[in-house]
Amino acid sequence: MSPREAYEAAQKWRVVKRSVDARQRELRVHLTILTDDWGRPISKDAPIPLYEPPVFRDVHSAERSAVIIGAGPAGLFAALTLLEHGIKPIIYERGKEVSLRKRDIALLNRNEGLNPESNYCFGEGGAGTFSDGKLFSRSKKRGNMQRVMELFHYFGAPDTVLYEAHAHIGSDKLPAIIQRIRECILAHGGEIHFNTKIESLNSLTAAGGLSLAMPTILAIGHSAHDTYRMLAAEGVLLETKGFAMGVRAEHPQALINRLMYHLKPSAVSHQHSVIDFVGNAAYSLVTQVDGRGVYSFCMCPGGHIVPAGSTPDTCVVNGMSASHRNSPYANSGMVVQINPEDIPGDDPLRGLDYQEQLERLSYSEAVLQCNGLTAQRSAIAPAQRLRDFVEGRASKDLPACSYLPGTIPSRLDQWLPAHIGRRLQQGFRDFDRKYPGFLTNDAVILGVESRSSSAVRIPRDPATLQSLSTPLLYPCGEGAGYAGGITSSALDGINAALAIARL
Ligand SMILES: Cc1cc2nc3c(=O)[nH]c(=O)nc-3n(C[C@H](O)[C@H](O)[C@H](O)COP(=O)(O)OP(=O)(O)OC[C@H]3O[C@@H](n4cnc5c(N)ncnc54)[C@H](O)[C@@H]3O)c2cc1C
Repeated sequence: MSPREAYEAAQKWRVVKRSVDARQRELRVHLTILTDDWGRPISKDAPIPLYEPPVFRDVHSAERSAVIIGAGPAGLFAALTLLEHGIKPIIYERGKEVSLRKRDIALLNRNEGLNPESNYCFGEGGAGTFSDGKLFSRSKKRGNMQRVMELFHYFGAPDTVLYEAHAHIGSDKLPAIIQRIRECILAHGGEIHFNTKIESLNSLTAAGGLSLAMPTILAIGHSAHDTYRMLAAEGVLLETKGFAMGVRAEHPQALINRLMYHLKPSAVSHQHSVIDFVGNAAYSLVTQVDGRGVYSFCMCPGGHIVPAGSTPDTCVVNGMSASHRNSPYANSGMVVQINPEDIPGDDPLRGLDYQEQLERLSYSEAVLQCNGLTAQRSAIAPAQRLRDFVEGRASKDLPACSYLPGTIPSRLDQWLPAHIGRRLQQGFRDFDRKYPGFLTNDAVILGVESRSSSAVRIPRDPATLQSLSTPLLYPCGEGAGYAGGITSSALDGINAALAIARL
């Protein structure tokens, strides 16, 4: 039996883990199959539940309530956990519900303007809704990751999220899952207020006093710079933290498949059969340059680069993929670690100012290159061919690219701050040594990838999870600096809700 036949035969059993290992010349697929007490494989159709389904309680007239600010993964999973404990969640979300948000995103992609309250970062489902939907986390410490996968599955994610080592959902499937979560929260008596930005914690305090009237989960994500500034002004303790910034690189997916799966360019039919079998290749690259990490971030095989800014006159990019990951492009953030001491001053919010400066610079460089003709208020991104960037040359033209609002040639090698630009140049050389052919002018980089992680932390007590300055405030998720990505943010939301349930 060939390895492929063996793999296909195994499909009739209950798979509990699947991973693809492309590190060796020979591609390996590892499967773990559920067995009974005698070691016999269990059929995938056996009447054994995949997991214990959640039990949500009716909270229409619950005695206890909690406020949640932000309906991203942290806020929504916190709400579900509150329901499990009979506590009524009252959610405030600055953006729109997901179907209306889709329309604003379509306008943005057509270059017809940014809605600062409804975009790739803000709105129901948060920043993860129009994403690749990668559901894995490097951190294994924070709790029950499998429970997050089970809840996603319960609300409609494919079975693969239960066993794939690198599960992903896709931007075409996520909105319906988010909608089902909302319907569940509402059906059980929770409240969700869209288009409601919390502009002062005083609106949530008892008679405008210093303490919150009820437990409040602060799950605002890391793009709500205005909300961070409000929190600082109202005396919530914030501190600066390290983050990362850089560019988004895009290669032809066929090239990445060849490099990562060690395929010969001539063996076209073999390539197709490998891709049919294991899907388009991803990569995860890391190197050290001058004492700082330079690494790939949020790699999207078969994906699209998207305009991920939330304020006008800035240019910010990120990436997403549909469930089949079948576009002809492979994109990834390529970022450089920034430490707090790199930015002068002692303002805890100085990292935000630094991010914004670079985002405005990226925008103004695009406008400059368009001679102000078409780029004004648009999301056109400044771009450079990869080898040109590394070798310090202007790109006369740019390759086709997945970024819908459009790209314009620009000297990123000249205007990126040297401590980022030079490290990226060396980083790309290092990656090319590992995967010869990676550094090519068939690839392009777009500016800027500035929102890969939060530049602020909202310190909290490790036992109670309450803010160190503001009792009953539960900072959680990516914006609080305790998570990064969908899974860990969702888990942090669960933990915040459990802390409230223990009160
Ligand atoms: C394009 C893109 C692709 C991504 N791809 C992936 C991926 O594949 N896998 C992955 O793990 N991660 C991905 N991420 C990152 C991931 O989305 C975030 O880590 C995650 O969503 C953080 O969850 P959160 O709930 O903490 O915050 P968010 O998802 O950012 O949600 C915060 C919510 O709070 C709301 N809000 C903010 N301020 C206020 C206020 N004052 N009042 C009311 N509401 C407010 C916002 O509108 C938002 O909806 C991606 C991000 C982007 C932008």
